[in-house]
Amino acid sequence: MSVTVVGSLNEDVLVAVGRLPGRGETVIGRSAVLAPGGKGANQAAAAGELGPGVHMVGRVGQDPAGDRQLAALAGSRVNVSRVHRTPGVPTGSATIPVEEGSGENLIVVVPGANAALTPEDADVESVRRARVVLLQLETPLETVTAAARAASGTVVLTPAPPQPLPAELREHVDVLVPNEHELAHLAGVEPGERAPAEVAALARSVVSCAVVVTLGARGALIVPPEGQPLLQAPPPVTAVDTTGAGDCFCGALAQALATDPDLPAAVRFAVTAAALSTTGPGARGALPGVDAVRGLLP
Ligand code: ATP
Repeated sequence: MSVTVVGSLNEDVLVAVGRLPGRGETVIGRSAVLAPGGKGANQAAAAGELGPGVHMVGRVGQDPAGDRQLAALAGSRVNVSRVHRTPGVPTGSATIPVEEGSGENLIVVVPGANAALTPEDADVESVRRARVVLLQLETPLETVTAAARAASGTVVLTPAPPQPLPAELREHVDVLVPNEHELAHLAGVEPGERAPAEVAALARSVVSCAVVVTLGARGALIVPPEGQPLLQAPPPVTAVDTTGAGDCFCGALAQALATDPDLPAAVRFAVTAAALSTTGPGARGALPGVDAVRGLLP
């Protein structure tokens, strides 16, 4: 296996509304669409679309939503033999009313089976032997830490949703991939757009490993433990929906690092893949294949 993702699988319920409801208010939605989601599964799907050898470790319920998440991941060439069915709890879900026009949303996440993922689930061969282990924080922290501890390959962590990182987890992470908001949260400063030098200083104040900070349309900043930070700009694309661009970035970064440990080259690949993913709808609606990404690389 080249990439193993330990993380969440959710069913997203996207509800189109004319106006977001206020507290205690009822609004009538125009449509409801089910879509596969969860940061872990989104990252696995992105990696699977870009190459072979991707495994997912996670939990879903014994319900139709769980069936749909497994089918969606398998459709992106992800091995789901380590995604366990958990009786008595529902598959994780995210209900997301999206306001037409503004695109503003509200998100209510019910972790469901994701909360039942144990450290024992993560201490498995597909984690121990993967070239890259990809982690996020939508499953219990002790499970994420156990996966990082068990890994012998490169450990990549997206610190989302942002929360304090236990010392043992920091110790085992090789590449931290926050967006600007998550980095500000970890550093305990106000969120906001900052110049690259300032972003690099914040990154170095948070961890001592390599950090890749995603900066939306500006691309990504590589902050090595020592030496100059390097900004990688995305290729010009017409972005129509940036949902899940960060997850595509991480899946692509992991897939690239699994074949070549050169971090700047992997970030170039990831920035290009993530840019392409913004040209279509939803988190998984426009995940690129490897030929499309290579075709845009200089
Ligand atoms: P999300 O939460 O929507 O998944 P994020 O906030 O975690 O995203 P971003 O920093 O917004 O992550 O984006 C991740 C990467 O996607 C960026 O580093 C960049 O490579 C690419 N990207 C995002 N927005 C654009 C855009 N408008 N044009 C080109 N590339 C983009």
